[in-house]
Amino acid sequence: MTEREVRVRFAPSPTGPLHIGGVRTALYNYLLARKLGGKMLLRIEDTDQNRFVPGAEEYILEALAWCGIVIDEGQGVGGPHGPYKQSERKPMYKQYADQLIADGHAYYAFDTAEELDAMRARLQAAKVPNPQYNSITRAQMRNSLTLPEDEVKALLDGGAQYVIRLKVPRKEEVRFQDLIRGWVVVHSSAIDDKVLMKSDGMPTYHLANIVDDHLMEISHVIRGEEWLPSAPLHVLLYRYLGWESTMPQFAHLPLLLKPDGTGKLSKRDGDRLGFPVFPLEWHGTDAETGEATISRGYREDGYLPEALVNFLAFLGWNPGTQQEIFSMDELIQAFSIERVSKSPAKFDQNKVKWFNEHYLRAKSNAELAPYLLQALHEHAIVCSQEKAEQIVGVMKERVSFPNDFWQEAKYFFQAPTEYDETVVSKKWNAAVAAALTAYAEALPTAPEVSAEGLKTLFNDTMAAQGLKPGQVLQALRVAVTGAAAGPDLFETLVILGVPEVTERLRTAVATLPAAA
Ligand code: GLU
Repeated sequence: MTEREVRVRFAPSPTGPLHIGGVRTALYNYLLARKLGGKMLLRIEDTDQNRFVPGAEEYILEALAWCGIVIDEGQGVGGPHGPYKQSERKPMYKQYADQLIADGHAYYAFDTAEELDAMRARLQAAKVPNPQYNSITRAQMRNSLTLPEDEVKALLDGGAQYVIRLKVPRKEEVRFQDLIRGWVVVHSSAIDDKVLMKSDGMPTYHLANIVDDHLMEISHVIRGEEWLPSAPLHVLLYRYLGWESTMPQFAHLPLLLKPDGTGKLSKRDGDRLGFPVFPLEWHGTDAETGEATISRGYREDGYLPEALVNFLAFLGWNPGTQQEIFSMDELIQAFSIERVSKSPAKFDQNKVKWFNEHYLRAKSNAELAPYLLQALHEHAIVCSQEKAEQIVGVMKERVSFPNDFWQEAKYFFQAPTEYDETVVSKKWNAAVAAALTAYAEALPTAPEVSAEGLKTLFNDTMAAQGLKPGQVLQALRVAVTGAAAGPDLFETLVILGVPEVTERLRTAVATLPAAA
């Protein structure tokens, strides 16, 4: 037998912005496809038109592209198994439902909403914990299994409203092997007679998902744990449609938990704890109030896609080594489903920030300069590319996000108007002020304007003043930048330039009370 081609799919429903859990699902699919030389598909599952949200599909495509998750076939790309949006495939599904009916595995159900409610109420009154339309209750309902054949025909011919339901066997064990969880065994009595076709002729998620995975020749279904309860039903569908021999292998990924591990990570947790749960910013409407809402995105918050991808890869997988920094190519090399954990993964906002700092600092000064230049432009400050590169070069060890460059580097463009109180009260005095005046006088004569050169000049000047450099260094920083801490001080002086430093020292000496 020839090896089956690896074909995986990411199959989101366009019901809103893609949650980072969804991005992780897409990422693991992509990593496996690339690792095994297979194909990554994108299918839009929009059979539930009530939950359709305009803009969600575009958001999904943009988010995947931003993360560097490349789609080989599917929505937005095309391919031989299209269309890749289920609403556009509507006419394809009915024949499979008909086939299931013809083979005795599905049936027509004519029950009205009131009749269904009455059934549930009856079962609740009889203390049935989880009232369902199933192998027992179906016998009391109005369907093609209980009604005489001629009545069923008359109803269908007369255009009566109906749904098609799967006829789940009463006593059978449904089993399949999950690549992450091992054997999963479910008794069929726990599965209800799911609707396969709705009264409007649209398939439900379950039917469309199985038909499409089959027609699109999917080899592995990798999806979130929330779909695990649907998997036994899907196994039954593969069996009844005669597709068991090519049924995809299942892998259900672990849940993503809140940082404290007390439940599924939600948008509310992000809002409460101050981190985004969506890859990109999302402009939506509040379902209850109808008000416009904005949800934060990793991209807009200043995260680099490499950092988010590296972080998400580790939420449920690890390489089995100490290595934590992985480029997308390295992830592809190292990834395997066997190393995906079945225990839930806790979200850790400090870790994603840590990854961001790493990837930010790994960038060259030339790559980082535009972030600062952009902010300078917004503040109408002119700065050369060369100077911007110097500044981000000394600053990059101190920032977590590109936007921090401006916040942290403001003093390169604006002389301080305030001076850090603590440093002033502890380090500023008449002797220090005199020493800094001497340094300001000596600076224009510096033989070499380099960090080394200005440092030597500083040490010499302090010696001549009878002071140790350590007694004056912090005062020098606060006089020039206003801040108590910052990057290498003498590099900072070089970037500011001797005339500016001299000027700032004079101002500080004139402003700060020498007797302090
Ligand atoms: N449409 C489902 C979702 O929104 C797909 C689940 C699956 O991958 O089968 O996640």
